Parts: sequence; C-alpha cells; structure tokens
Amino acid sequence: MSSNSITISGPWRLGDYGIIVHGGAGAWRLKEALEKTSRPIIEAVTRGITTLLDNNSPLEAVVEAIAVLEDSGIFNAGIGSTLSYDGKIEMDAGVMSGDYRAGAVAIVTYPKNPIKLAKYIAQNLDHVIIGGQSADKLARRIGLERHPGPSRYAIQRWNLVKKELEEGKGPKWAQRIRELYSDTVGAIVFKEIRFAAGASTGGITLKHSGRIGDSPIPGAGFYAENGVGACSATGIGETIILTRPCAYVVDLLSKGYSLFNAVEEALKRHTRIFGDGNLGLIAADKDGNVVAGINTRAMPIGIYGREYKPSFLIVSREG
Ligand code: ASP
Repeated sequence: MSSNSITISGPWRLGDYGIIVHGGAGAWRLKEALEKTSRPIIEAVTRGITTLLDNNSPLEAVVEAIAVLEDSGIFNAGIGSTLSYDGKIEMDAGVMSGDYRAGAVAIVTYPKNPIKLAKYIAQNLDHVIIGGQSADKLARRIGLERHPGPSRYAIQRWNLVKKELEEGKGPKWAQRIRELYSDTVGAIVFKEIRFAAGASTGGITLKHSGRIGDSPIPGAGFYAENGVGACSATGIGETIILTRPCAYVVDLLSKGYSLFNAVEEALKRHTRIFGDGNLGLIAADKDGNVVAGINTRAMPIGIYGREYKPSFLIVSREG
C-alpha cells in the first residue's frame, strides 16, 4: 500500500518463528541500498535465527542480529555510528523482551556493541536505562569489546555536512541532514507468541553532544509484549519520543487491529503531527506476520522464518 507519504509492505507470514530487521528509514537511494546493505542484512537475519534455534531466546537472537549490523560499519550504529557536532561518537541502544524486561544505554562511547550492554542491563540490573560515563564504565567492567573509533564512511559523511554547515549552505545542509540521520538498525524476533525487539544507533549527524534519541526509550524506539506483538522504529528521534509509535502499534494489536492496520494508523498519526520524512517501523504479530512501513524515501529490511527463506527487500516510496 502506498499513499502520498506513507508506504507499507507486507504482511509476510513467517510461520511459528521468525525475524525482521531494518537498516534505517530515509537516507537510502535504491541502488546504494542494494549495493551496500543486502549482505549484512542477510547475515543479520541468519545469525538471529541460528541464535534463536540454538538457545530458544528471542532476546538473545535480537541482540546477535543487531550486533552483526553494528559491526558492518555501513549502518548508523556500532562502528558505523554517525558523529556529533563535536566529532564524537555517542551511541544509544535498547532491547526489550515480551515479558516486560528491558535494558537500554544512552550516549555511550566505549562499547563496540551497545546492544550487548543493553542486554546485560535487561538481564542483570534493576534499572532500565543507564547513560554516559557510568554506562561506559559498566561496559568495560563486564569485558565488552572496545569501540575502535568511527568507520571511514562515518568520518567522510561528517566532514561533508560539517563543511556545508560552516559554509552557510543552510537549506541544502538542512536537506542533507534529513538524508543522513537515518540508517539506524533494529530487529524483532519471535517464537510462537514470545517476542523481543531492539534498536541501536549513533543518533543524528551533527547532533548536540549529550543528545538522546528514541532508540533507548521503550515504547518509542522499540516495544514487545508476549501474546501480542512487537515493533522497532527508526527516524528522527525527537519526533518518535513524542508519539511513541512502538507502544502504540502493540496497543492497537491488543485491541484487535490487524498488523497492517496498526502500523498504518501509527504512521498516519505520526505524519499528521510531524509531517513526513521522519519515521520507519517494523512490526510483528502473534500469528507470525511481519510488516514494514515508512513515511520516508526507503528502508532496507531483511526477513527470515520457518516458512520464509532469508530475504532482503527494500520498502520504497518509489515502488
Ligand atoms: N532514531 C535515531 C535517533 O533519532 C536515528 C535513526 O533512526 O537513524 O537517534
């Protein structure tokens, strides 16, 4: 389905277990998305399902799938993370399982895989979100691998937009920043009616240091409820925090909406409030369906399940 500003693809029926991942909404031009993102996305869904089948945990599977995308250097997460105005990497990530357990980290700089730190918090601490230096200290203490610094691709993008900004190319720069914010990663895994969802990001290019987006906030960047469904979001965090589309989608599912209609309603409501160009969603329901929707130009996704072979697709406004 495609209206002027909203495009929704699916539902795809994956069977009694499955995974859907995304590589961010908006920035991708189709050719670029195909060239750069298909390999890591297929690797991520494969790792996710292998992990699920090995240890029966949707949470572990979401984390492993997201870690593949963080390590690719292509997406705005992990080593591909975009830089703040001051040239620093400050990452956010969060994960939730459908039994109301969640863990998240904000403005972390130390771990190569912020999603693994989020998982540690979900499984071991009585808190949900830990931020800044204390989160970095925790990452070091529990022996997580250290971030090697920004990828070459991330530095190139940052230099380009910073130069334009300093040269006073206002409108073009503003356009560019819309295009550059958006290759965050997210994943949902389910087995029967158990769900987990997560998100990981470097945030928005040239953001103010200390800025926190939607990705560590349950309900905004991700949400999961066993017996109902799950959702993960990408786009401009400042808008997503305020409409909490992931909690909204799961809420609509619990009220009997179809998966397609729940995602459509969340995108429509968000677009009514904030305009388009700022949101992408992936979602799953208790019947083994997944759906992806955007109000941006495009979003690469990967799906895999008992009844669906590993597949790479691009949800695109251009069709
Ligand atoms: N949602 C992320 C943030 O605002 C950015 C993105 O999705 O690319 O931090």
